[in-house]
Amino acid sequence: MTSILNNVLNAMQQVIIEPVEGSLNLFKLVGGSCLWATELLPLSASQKVFSIDDNTPFLQDFLIDAQLIWNGSEDNRVRSGFWTEVVANNKELHLEAIAIKQDDQSLLIISNQTEDFTLRQSTMQSARELSLYNDHLIEQNEYLHTRILAIFNKPYEQENIITALTKAIENAGFAVLITKSDLTTIIANTAALHLFEQGGSSTHESSNPVDIIVQLLKNQLPEYERIIATKSSWDGELCWMSPPSTLKWLKVALYPVLDDLNEIKNWIIFANDISNIKYLVQRNEKSDLQDLLTQLPNRISFWQRLEKQIISNIPFYLLYVDVNDFRRHNEFYGHDEGDKLLIEVSGRIKSSIKTSDFIARVGGDEFAIILTDIDNQACCEGVVERILDCTREPFQTSELESFNVNLSIGAANFPHDAHSVEELMKFVDLSAYNGKRSKANSLQFYSQSMKDASRLIIEVEHELREAIKNDEFELFLQPIIDLELNKIVKAEALIRWNHPTKGMLFPDSFIAIAEKSGLIITIGKWVIDTACQMVDKINKMGHKVKISLNLSPAQVFDENLFPHLHTCIKNNKIDPCLLELEITEGVMIDDYAITEKLLNKVRAIGVSVSIDDFGTGYSSLAYLKKLPLDFLKIDRSFVRDIVSDDNDKAIVRAVIAMAHNLNLGVIAEGVETQEQLDFLEQNSCNSVQGYFFSKPIEFSSFIMLLQNQKKKDFESHSS
Ligand SMILES: [Mg+2]
Repeated sequence: MTSILNNVLNAMQQVIIEPVEGSLNLFKLVGGSCLWATELLPLSASQKVFSIDDNTPFLQDFLIDAQLIWNGSEDNRVRSGFWTEVVANNKELHLEAIAIKQDDQSLLIISNQTEDFTLRQSTMQSARELSLYNDHLIEQNEYLHTRILAIFNKPYEQENIITALTKAIENAGFAVLITKSDLTTIIANTAALHLFEQGGSSTHESSNPVDIIVQLLKNQLPEYERIIATKSSWDGELCWMSPPSTLKWLKVALYPVLDDLNEIKNWIIFANDISNIKYLVQRNEKSDLQDLLTQLPNRISFWQRLEKQIISNIPFYLLYVDVNDFRRHNEFYGHDEGDKLLIEVSGRIKSSIKTSDFIARVGGDEFAIILTDIDNQACCEGVVERILDCTREPFQTSELESFNVNLSIGAANFPHDAHSVEELMKFVDLSAYNGKRSKANSLQFYSQSMKDASRLIIEVEHELREAIKNDEFELFLQPIIDLELNKIVKAEALIRWNHPTKGMLFPDSFIAIAEKSGLIITIGKWVIDTACQMVDKINKMGHKVKISLNLSPAQVFDENLFPHLHTCIKNNKIDPCLLELEITEGVMIDDYAITEKLLNKVRAIGVSVSIDDFGTGYSSLAYLKKLPLDFLKIDRSFVRDIVSDDNDKAIVRAVIAMAHNLNLGVIAEGVETQEQLDFLEQNSCNSVQGYFFSKPIEFSSFIMLLQNQKKKDFESHSS
């Protein structure tokens, strides 16, 4: 048996065994090596020829039929039908076997049908329930139908017909409503009142069926206005959150009754409760609600559950669990190990909460948990402690390398912290995110200060949108001096926000929010465009100075970045060699493949690339060697103590030497004193940038600086 065939058998969940000639209960394994087969036939794992033991009574039973086939003289086969065998650890296997005799060869094929079996069971159950429900609907329709027929078959007076029709409508099993042209009710049958009956004490909403349906139509049907205005009929499904806690699905039909002048006289509305059908269909679509990797409910399923939980109005805690540094883990050990970790983490968390709690995988490395039956923060902390405890035990890779995992957990309470799904999710996400900064295990409850912070974020986000519309950004330039030429050869473009009330704002007060909200893409495009215009202006004045732009991670992963950059270069007719892009170390580690592709493309058209803030993040020298780069910028934190701190001295020397070995130019950031400059010059640093020369300045001031430099150059040449 080749390994390919073996793989095929494993994929099909089958094993093939062969009876040993002349023996009643001795077999050989021919193909297939699934774990379940070893559980079913434990002796096959250690013995080439094995017997089938008493632990599999159904299989033994089938072997009697099989022997009849194998001992016969003709080609033949017999199927076992489905049976269930209980193997070690009380695990149930749902199996089917076929005994075959063909060309004098006897074989037994056993298939594991557990997956199909479960699906079939649930489908059959759904089918039974749907059929029952359908019978009920047919019964109702037949009743109305026979009643109406009876009315028309009797010689009634006109008045009597109306009475009889009214009676038939009244007794219909579904909601029938007749309204005036302005949708005020004339008739509502008992079924309608019953369907829209409101339990509980919350009666602030209208309980008039027509009002409710019209409201639902307005909210859920974008074409509502058009249907009314054009006097059209409509039928479809509407979803009603019936107070206080039920979600009903309605099948609604709306028909206009027109008069001779083609004006609306009445509307007739039918409504049926189809919640059961919806529920059954949804249950059959369960796989759409499950995360295939961890087998936990997925994001959609979680959202639905959270909505229901909120509607039920019973207090609960919501946890948001984030695996710290998961992306780096994935990058370091490979994606298979990443998947393995997620399965293990989800399993451990699941085992530490109650079965009545609800856990789902809501993102790559994010899980959300609804903790019910908990009414105070201390209890919630207890659960979180259990979750953290079970993940403290080291994890292992397939190669048996141990490693630890830390979790950031955000917690919020319903109804104390928020009342809606969106708000709750936003708050726990924010809490987990806040905790993440510490890198260790953390639990953050949603708090007032966080509430204020999130309000501020929403505010800033709104103002940023306005700022984009109103062109409130400015690009400042900080000169970069080449130490060999002793002149400005480059400038780093740094964004400022000229806020209408708060004045000039630095990027650290808004870039993080722009990144989180995705606005960074639009702002980044503006920066590229503006920088290209600046390069053009500077060039036209006779200076050859490069402008260097900072790219945020989101921009690096935005597939429109390169086309936009290319278009701006072409539109402004500038030399691409006068542009440089700065990316941080984290970006290249987060997605090496995308980063490499982008950098290759930009360098192919002549734009240079530098690694920004070098030394502050995850420095991977391997990436530094592999990626297409031109410059390395030493972070200001190393330059700051370069004169007094021997460690920093050693680091900076080593970084410069290493960069030069990799053919990279070195730029030192944050140079503020003559002593720092001297040290960098002595150690062959190529360029410097910092307050010692100039802070970031407006475009016009930068031009003046260049003019002065030119004048000095001219004077020194002529003297
Ligand atoms: Mg920078």
